[in-house]
Amino acid sequence: MHEASIALSLIAVATETMQEHGGGRITALTVRIGQWSAVVPEALQAAFPAAAEGTPLECARLSIVRVPGVGDCPTHGPVTLDLRRGLRCPVCDLPTPTLLQGDELELDELELD
Ligand SMILES: [Zn+2]
Repeated sequence: MHEASIALSLIAVATETMQEHGGGRITALTVRIGQWSAVVPEALQAAFPAAAEGTPLECARLSIVRVPGVGDCPTHGPVTLDLRRGLRCPVCDLPTPTLLQGDELELDELELD
């Protein structure tokens, strides 16, 4: 149900953006989801059609871009994290508690009609 409410809020943001641009319908949207966010892309993809019913996004094509996690290693700077290893530098294994990228959930592109 988590993903259903995320789908609804994405639809709300997309509809608002569409209205600002004077469009009447959205034919496609791209959403960026960080690999370290709690969102399961497949579940969002599955929840989307029902959530979009009766909105300007009905029948819109949803594309999901997965954003890899990037941590901040004290020695190596920004490093791409390995999900299986957790918040640790893949080179030196130091903890990288700060996530520079990878926990996002954002609307990236809209195609208006
Ligand atoms: Zn390191």
